Amino acid sequence: MQIAFIGLGHMGGPMAVNLHKAGHQVKAFDLSQDALAKARAEGLTIASSAEDAVQGAEAVVTMLPASQHVEGLFLGKDGQGGLLAHIAKGTLVIDSSTIAAATSQKVAKAAEAAGIAFIDAPVSGGTGGAIAGTLTFMVGGSDADLERARPILEKMGANIFHAGSVGAGQTAKICNNMLLGILMIGTSEAMALGVANGLDPKVLAEIMRRSSGGNWALEKYNPYPGVHENAPASKGYAGGFGTDLMLKDLGLAQENAMAMKASTPLGGLARALYAAHSLAGHGAEDFSSVIKMVQKQG
Ligand code: NAD
Repeated sequence: MQIAFIGLGHMGGPMAVNLHKAGHQVKAFDLSQDALAKARAEGLTIASSAEDAVQGAEAVVTMLPASQHVEGLFLGKDGQGGLLAHIAKGTLVIDSSTIAAATSQKVAKAAEAAGIAFIDAPVSGGTGGAIAGTLTFMVGGSDADLERARPILEKMGANIFHAGSVGAGQTAKICNNMLLGILMIGTSEAMALGVANGLDPKVLAEIMRRSSGGNWALEKYNPYPGVHENAPASKGYAGGFGTDLMLKDLGLAQENAMAMKASTPLGGLARALYAAHSLAGHGAEDFSSVIKMVQKQG
């Protein structure tokens, strides 16, 4: 299958490589020269623009930072010059970015008017899952469009959930990430407290992992350096899932909670703490660096 892949960052880069390794013809594009150079080194065909990438594509996959990037790409500025005008009728668009459900619905509506199928398919599993091809996809869209997407998603992920109609994948994703943001702060506090008391971080992490506090961060993404060799914490908090991306997701969750008149006090507090952490200069570091807020320095 010929697939256009747009957005080759921490997640999109390895996802596109997995489609290429599975035998698909992937034509990849990113605005960043660095991202393009890495994709080229992995053997991907590089497009000269997003318009070039979608020429002849049967499916288009996007993995962009936030709502404005997805809306800007597909619909253009003030509704002018968007990529949808360059995509052939009947093509399937899979947007895996984490964005506002309302933006997914807006783009899906414009796509439908142009005869293009659109699903939102945000992911969970981190960069490790993107590299291993074991991501969890949370899909919003019709049954028929999901079945068209399934053979593509299966090459990048291990779990595919149908959350509901377009936008429902995004809603599931922000619920998940609100929980993740909260539990990473809680895990950080517990790790920092134990280590301040002289406990060995690896021993403490293993005790809690196998006890009632066990969670995903303790399983594979410990915020304390040296506990998990491959976690961002052990690599100076480089790569992974940026603090500013977590902040964006917690903002989406709070906007949604306000609209729903829902009570999400810990989600609100987590957003405020990641905002302070970003302001302190940690926006580009992995979000697990939030442990620095609660760790004894020096
Ligand atoms: P990233 O910043 O590493 O990558 C985004 C890429 O998009 C960049 O390379 C950027 O140059 C490119 N880009 C932006 N606008 C573009 C455009 N108009 N055309 C082409 N390329 C463009 O981000 P990431 O960590 O890969 O995350 C991507 C999305 O996945 C985000 O929505 C994020 O919330 C979500 N997500 C990330 C993780 C993670 O662990 N990093 C996990 C799950 C979900």
